[in-house]
Amino acid sequence: MNILIANPRGFCAGVDRAIEITEKALSIFGAPIYVKHEIVHNNYVVKNLEAKGAKFIENIENLKEGSILIFSAHGVSNDIENKAQEKNLKVFNATCPLVTKVHMEVQKYSDDKINTILIGHKGHPEVEGTIGRYKSTDQARIFLVENINDVNALTLKNDEPVAYVTQTTLSLDDTEKIIDHLKKRFKNLVGPKKEDICYATQNRQNAVKKLSKKCDIILVVGSKNSSNSNRLKEIGIKAGVSTKLVDSENDLKVEWFNNKNNIGLTAGASAPEILIQNIVSKLKEFGALEVTETEGVVEKTTFKIPKELSTLHR
Ligand code: SF4
Repeated sequence: MNILIANPRGFCAGVDRAIEITEKALSIFGAPIYVKHEIVHNNYVVKNLEAKGAKFIENIENLKEGSILIFSAHGVSNDIENKAQEKNLKVFNATCPLVTKVHMEVQKYSDDKINTILIGHKGHPEVEGTIGRYKSTDQARIFLVENINDVNALTLKNDEPVAYVTQTTLSLDDTEKIIDHLKKRFKNLVGPKKEDICYATQNRQNAVKKLSKKCDIILVVGSKNSSNSNRLKEIGIKAGVSTKLVDSENDLKVEWFNNKNNIGLTAGASAPEILIQNIVSKLKEFGALEVTETEGVVEKTTFKIPKELSTLHR
């Protein structure tokens, strides 16, 4: 058996930044540091930060004045931001700048009173945060669509001005089909100048497409609630390759690899490299011989952490 490792894979700039913000806050202010929702959707990362004193919470109601609160990489609604301010919490915002870009688009459509369609997955925290950036009124609202059926069910008039935005971690192919459908239906549709699906999601999806041409099985390292990891799994399955989403080497089952020659390995944007390396070690125990890094786009994007954290010292 040979192992082919996808490039790029694993941590993106937004995840790197969110973890760095949490670690800096812990080292400067000490535990506990509260984080609204899991900082990123990965069990290893969350447990690691919990061990250092981070507390992941959904409800901020009971936090005492002056508590330190971090907003996760997925972003939050205006309501949460206002509530944190009313309660006098000290907030560090780890929202990925590429999610903030979508928030700003939505805010503008809201101010302009243009009905807006968000393409995304119901219940995902990023989607809740983005919806919560739009002030729905009698004149204009925000609508969530997950598929083409949802577009057909919209009661908006076909000739009225309509805007659209998307969640950042969607399937490129599925989203393109939904956008095409929106364009056909709404004559006066406006959308982002540059894609809302982020560079990291795009690059990881393209890398798995390449991998799927060469592999008999693909392992995607990521947690069950990670949107972009699930999209990577779907790409492998759509290409007809047996594809498993695994949290760590402990999830591997030796029988998966019976009669398999080439194992593809990748990781979602929230999964750390150590998990890939642990899986490689386990696969070697199962008899894998060669490990090859495939060629792919070299990512250079980085995001700075808030000034206050980069200049403060313990
Ligand atoms: S996956 Fe994309 S949007 Fe999400 S944190 Fe990473 S760079 Fe930002």
